Amino acid sequence: MPTERAENVKPFIVMDILARAGELEKAGESVIHFEVGEPDFDTPESVKEAAIEAIRAGKTHYTHAMGMPELRQAICDHYHKEYGVSVTPDRILVTSGTSPALFLTMMALVEKGEEVIISNPGYACYPNFVEGAGGKAIEVITSAEDGFVFTPDSIKEVISDRTRGILINSPSNPTGVVMSGSDLSRIASFDNLYVISDEIYHGLSYCGRADTILQYTDRAFVVNGFSKLYAMTGWRLGYVIFPSEFSRAMERIHQSFMISANSFVQIAGISALENTEVDIQNMRETYDKRRRFMIDGLKAIGLKIHREPTGAFYIFADIRHISTDSYAEAYNILEKARVGVTPGIDFGSGGEGFLRFSYATSMDNIKEGLDRLAKYFAER
Ligand code: PMP
Repeated sequence: MPTERAENVKPFIVMDILARAGELEKAGESVIHFEVGEPDFDTPESVKEAAIEAIRAGKTHYTHAMGMPELRQAICDHYHKEYGVSVTPDRILVTSGTSPALFLTMMALVEKGEEVIISNPGYACYPNFVEGAGGKAIEVITSAEDGFVFTPDSIKEVISDRTRGILINSPSNPTGVVMSGSDLSRIASFDNLYVISDEIYHGLSYCGRADTILQYTDRAFVVNGFSKLYAMTGWRLGYVIFPSEFSRAMERIHQSFMISANSFVQIAGISALENTEVDIQNMRETYDKRRRFMIDGLKAIGLKIHREPTGAFYIFADIRHISTDSYAEAYNILEKARVGVTPGIDFGSGGEGFLRFSYATSMDNIKEGLDRLAKYFAER
């Protein structure tokens, strides 16, 4: 029998949709994928070259447990250049993706029974990370009418003497919301708490840059990675920037559980940070065009978008006037219209009655998918 801990890890419902979409495709059907949360772009050429060169040069061994010093320095330079904040390499741990960075952060930060405040809807795996470390996820429902903003006031209401931290994600999956500097500043000012800031969608905001929490406090764990901005999901590379008093604990945990992140992938990461400005600019502009096209398209079909999403590559649309069972609706859309979408319930109870549409797919696919959805909803 698996442990209770393992049984408590909630599944990602979108995987059911993906599996069914795969069956349909295997049977020769065409399916448009708006459910997938990963870039459709190829990894920039300079990054691939750097990895190939590194393998040829024999960079295929363990690295320092905290990560290669050159990559950690490049991450410091990146945060300085983008946000003007000063971070030193001894506050950085390089991991095999943002997911392990979240896992290790919770292990180092959260004592059994301590609480971490998260937003609902929010990234589906967050409660698993908190609860996997023995903590308790305290959910704050954000509302569509208020633009799904995770406000300092709503957070303040649920702070207790067991609260250890506040987990924020701006730009957000699934809502595309970018938090304002003033909200970040207020969240950073809550006494004795740590902010865990998932900045994996940084660089993908279309109406002004997203601020980092480090502009407002060093009492924070910033988790970030290369999956989204650099189209590197399969490379598995991420990092966490932490307060210096956690340095030795982070090192010990990583040494013991993971040893180090992949060596040649770390070298590719340096290239991603230093040589991809043009690639990133192109990807961002393309996402933005698709974003605007899809928002208009979904509205024309009759779905409600209360406030325009300005970051990541998702639109979280309201279908409550059509259905309050997002799982059944997502399935129906796949069976009848051959379009994959993610049910809002995947992101918590606050996401029920919504669907998440990803625009990390080509403009041709977006046009075709919207045509299919228009027919489907016209008959609904
Ligand atoms: N945080 C958020 C908000 C995400 O959407 C994802 C990927 N879906 C992750 C973390 C994990 O990313 P990685 O591939 O770096 O593990």
